[in-house]
Amino acid sequence: MIVIVKQGATKNSIEELKQELRQKGFDIHESKGTTTTILGLVGDTSSLTEDELLTYDAVEAVRRIREPYKLANRNVHPQDTVVEVCGRKIGGGNFQVIAGPCSIESEEQITEVAKDVCASGAGFLRGGAFKPRTSPYSFQGLHGDGLKLLLEAKKATGLPVVTEIMSAAHLDLFEDVDVIQVGARNMQNFELLKVLGKTNKPILLKRGLANTLDELLMSAEYIMAGGNENVILCERGIRTFETSTRNTLDISAIPMLRKKTHLPIIVDPSHAAGIRHMVEPLSMAAIAVGADGLMIEVHNNPSKALCDGPQSLTPQAFDDLMKKINKTVAFFQGN
Ligand code: PEP
Ligand code: MN
Repeated sequence: MIVIVKQGATKNSIEELKQELRQKGFDIHESKGTTTTILGLVGDTSSLTEDELLTYDAVEAVRRIREPYKLANRNVHPQDTVVEVCGRKIGGGNFQVIAGPCSIESEEQITEVAKDVCASGAGFLRGGAFKPRTSPYSFQGLHGDGLKLLLEAKKATGLPVVTEIMSAAHLDLFEDVDVIQVGARNMQNFELLKVLGKTNKPILLKRGLANTLDELLMSAEYIMAGGNENVILCERGIRTFETSTRNTLDISAIPMLRKKTHLPIIVDPSHAAGIRHMVEPLSMAAIAVGADGLMIEVHNNPSKALCDGPQSLTPQAFDDLMKKINKTVAFFQGN
């Protein structure tokens, strides 16, 4: 349920209203726009009537939120959320590119790629240390040692780092990580989401291979309900009947999510297509439909990559792509 506050309502009358609602057991999410203030009531509002709320001086109107996601809902929070990491903003007109290898393989590899993508203008470095592989016989990542190498690459370049967590048991290892990624396969690992909701780390939440947008938003809600509202959503392609690409990029997810939620939305064209030559056109499409950023896999030697070589760009190809990304962002998003 949301309460729209009257324009010109006194501070006292708003405070009184908030206090009474808190006493009734609701958490209140206040969203102040330039002209309108909205109070989002989180909790079981079934016993609360519209008429009861309208008796308060400060109340202009009351609306029930039909969707099961409340904190992630744009109706509760009309302004775009801007997530800020190490002084870099994402969302609300701030576009970011996250680039790096699928997995961290060696000090030389991650540092070399980090320096290259930094020079090309990427805002964040990615690299997996815990890899969710379909086969237990495939390279699983360097785990804690990989995270150390990633942090060394951060030191060498100044790029904030994004890396995937697969189990809450590993959380201590992520203390110096800037953005924690929840991969597609863990989007509905609710126990993991609850633990991440109790941290103060920005979370990059990827859409599951076969999950609806509302399910993605409910997973974001799990994190936000714990108190952590720094969630970035990522469309990374979904399973369809098509077999010529690894997944099918759901391009319509971006404008639809934009309507449903205030959270930043980025696109991962690398995992969506699984094929190098499609990364550029899908990146352009993502920008055109209003994505807040891109996550792109880059490897210094894609043919030797231990994971996802066929979809990884060389540093040179990434450099060329960054020039096109910058122009396209300026054209479509005016910055
Ligand atoms: C990744 O980004 O490394 C990854 C495994 O992606 P996804 O979870 O989208 O498959
Ligand atoms: Mn990958």
